Amino acid sequence: MSDIEITNARENNLRNVSLKIPKRQITVFTGVSGSGKSSIVFDTIATESQRLLNETFSSFARNRMPKYGRPDADAVENLSAAVVIGQRRIGGNSRSTVGTITDVHPLLRLLYSREGRPYAGYSNAFSFNDPAGMCPGCQGLGRRMTLDLDRAVDRTKSLNEGALLLPGAGVGTWLWKMYTTSGLFDNDRKLADYTEREWETLLHGQGPGVSLKTRGGAVQQRYEGLVTRFDRLYVNRDGESESGREAAQLAFVSSAVCPVCRGARLNRAALDSRIEGRNIAELCAMEIGDLVEVVATITGPVAETLTAAIMERLRHLVSIGLGYLSLDRETSTLSGGESQRIKIVRHLGGGLTDMTYIFDEPTIGLHPRDVVRMNGLLRKLRDKGNTVIVVEHDRDVIEIADHVVDVGPYAGTRGGEIVYEGGVAGLRESGTLTGRHMRDVRPPKETFREPTGALTVTGANARNLKDVTVSFPTGVLAVVTGVAGSGKSTLVNEVFLRAHPGAVVVDQSAVGTSVRSTPATYTGLMDEVRGLFARAAGVSPSLFSFNSEGACPNCQGLGVVHVDLAFMEGVTSRCGVCRGRRFKEEVLRHTLRGRSVLDVLEMTAAQAADFFTEPKPRRVLRALNEVGLGYLRLGQPLSSLSGGECQRIKLASELRKTGSVYVMDEPTTGLHMADVEHLLTVMDGLVDAGNSVIVIEHNLDVVKNADWVIDLGPEGGDRGGTVVFEGTPGDLLKATGSLTAEHLRRSAA
Ligand code: ADP
Ligand code: ADP
Ligand code: ZN
Ligand code: ZN
Repeated sequence: MSDIEITNARENNLRNVSLKIPKRQITVFTGVSGSGKSSIVFDTIATESQRLLNETFSSFARNRMPKYGRPDADAVENLSAAVVIGQRRIGGNSRSTVGTITDVHPLLRLLYSREGRPYAGYSNAFSFNDPAGMCPGCQGLGRRMTLDLDRAVDRTKSLNEGALLLPGAGVGTWLWKMYTTSGLFDNDRKLADYTEREWETLLHGQGPGVSLKTRGGAVQQRYEGLVTRFDRLYVNRDGESESGREAAQLAFVSSAVCPVCRGARLNRAALDSRIEGRNIAELCAMEIGDLVEVVATITGPVAETLTAAIMERLRHLVSIGLGYLSLDRETSTLSGGESQRIKIVRHLGGGLTDMTYIFDEPTIGLHPRDVVRMNGLLRKLRDKGNTVIVVEHDRDVIEIADHVVDVGPYAGTRGGEIVYEGGVAGLRESGTLTGRHMRDVRPPKETFREPTGALTVTGANARNLKDVTVSFPTGVLAVVTGVAGSGKSTLVNEVFLRAHPGAVVVDQSAVGTSVRSTPATYTGLMDEVRGLFARAAGVSPSLFSFNSEGACPNCQGLGVVHVDLAFMEGVTSRCGVCRGRRFKEEVLRHTLRGRSVLDVLEMTAAQAADFFTEPKPRRVLRALNEVGLGYLRLGQPLSSLSGGECQRIKLASELRKTGSVYVMDEPTTGLHMADVEHLLTVMDGLVDAGNSVIVIEHNLDVVKNADWVIDLGPEGGDRGGTVVFEGTPGDLLKATGSLTAEHLRRSAA
């Protein structure tokens, strides 16, 4: 079996990289953030594989698929079909659940159609996406939209005073006239003073006759109560119709559990059919970890092959740390990490071999306990005859690699090369940044900061939390740990932030999607730079902006022009006037210490820190360097930054503040062990400057550097939701009953 072979790859920062990747093995790509891993794995390998795949389709089909350009490389050879299992959320509409997406739900339906008593039909009779099975009250959605009366009407007013707040029902409108000319109400009485009967009529009434006067005469109009009309227009049609979705976005609509099926989504016949006392909806509402046990007890001649297939998939879900989910959980509510793990299970269930599976940091959101389990699944994919390529920073995943490719030595222009290829043992001896961090594991901190105070959460019961009362110490670095599903996000992002709304959330969400924003504009650096150029040249600062006066008139400062072609896909090409430089010519004639504004935008933050002597720009640039973004070019579009880079650029903009509470959710995502060291220095700096930092993390290097740990557990879902430990990492090392403590001891040994 010949290796995948790449010759002279040059995407982004890659410097003519050539390498071989063994087939049917696990290859892990490591290296600091920005070193070029994604440029090799996604921009070169996955892109070429997609392109090859597309070439196998007819030109008719090809025209309907996204276009994949050839990656910038001399050759990419011996590729097999590649599947990228990334962190993009599965999303989907409310008819997509964990059960449907993993194919367990269709199998359960089949089981009920065979073994369920009384017999209800075949398997469509148990599908909430099929008219044969769906609840008539909610069309299988389990929820119904209801009119939120507190928002739809103002009870302190009369009809004449404008009590109807619904759009289109204001005083003088056609709808308002239907109510006021009906003769059913005293139009000057406040709704709060209505009799029960009037109120009922206003909401639910239906009747033949109101004659509405119009300019052309009179029109006979059926009377309809507010709720009656709402249900007719939005609810009783297909629950997912365009108008329904529109209505759902309006502020006066709320969604409530369907009163007919009580959220079970199915009709009576389907819900009455039971196996060993349980109906299919009850099974789907159980935690998967418990469901395995129940399915195991179902026996019978036809049942056995089905239950075996169901249990195999359920066990995979449990072993990947998702045993706390239920099959009826909507996929749109899953986190990125959960979505990625579900996708793995889908592929394990399939019989494909000789595929190339590409993973982007599969450990995101995973506790060290579950990383061990996930490794088992990666091995299983390999052993089925597939090639597994993983971009990962986690020591435990790197340990199971058959082959390691270490990209570096640093990030951006100082990276883009392969610094080590080979086995894990060799990596440890190699002396590369990754090799050194694999060998030298950080010891736990021994002295801890004294808290200056505490922010408390009392009696929290959201989601799986069980009456949690806990104090978050201030003036220290506090870390919230626990296996996936234990309740960390619920406690921090919902309960804590709601109770203490002043906290600053520094997350990984995109900082800007416009190609016009750059690190320079985001950090405010550009204002300083423009001011300096303007003063030197004696002109207006806006001349030095490609979003304003300085823009190339041909491309409006975009650097590219888009040409629409009548019958073909439009093309984007570099602007012929400014040659991609975005500025008009005269702007670039003005210089500061010999450099044009374009030269400055092409500098990395580190280079710019040497160029600028003025205190204000230096302060911003120093902050960018401190968070490890010294390699970013000041003019690189923000839309090209990774989540981790977005988070760090936000951190850099916050560094000068004091007295704030910062909340971060898995800030080590996308970060190499060396980057984590950097991040810890930044967090320590924030705390030393008088701030409080609260972090949700699994990364043990972060836990070891904390002053305080709040560990949730003991498990995920119903078996989680309690605080199993609070104290210093020193005390955590000695704690019992905490999975985090177990793994901390193992890693400290
Ligand atoms: P890694 O995956 O190791 O974090 P990447 O391959 O994403 O690194 O990035 C390598 C370098 O290329 C970084 O300096 C990054 O900022 C740069 N880069 C990535 N995508 C783009 C892009 N679309 N435009 C310009 N530079 C990019
Ligand atoms: P963690 O952050 O520790 O992974 P979460 O706070 O996200 O845990 O989840 C706690 C529990 O709440 C889990 O059982 C999870 O399945 C459930 N949960 C989380 N988000 C949702 C949601 N949007 N809908 C229903 N249940 C949810
Ligand atoms: Zn229903
Ligand atoms: Zn131009």
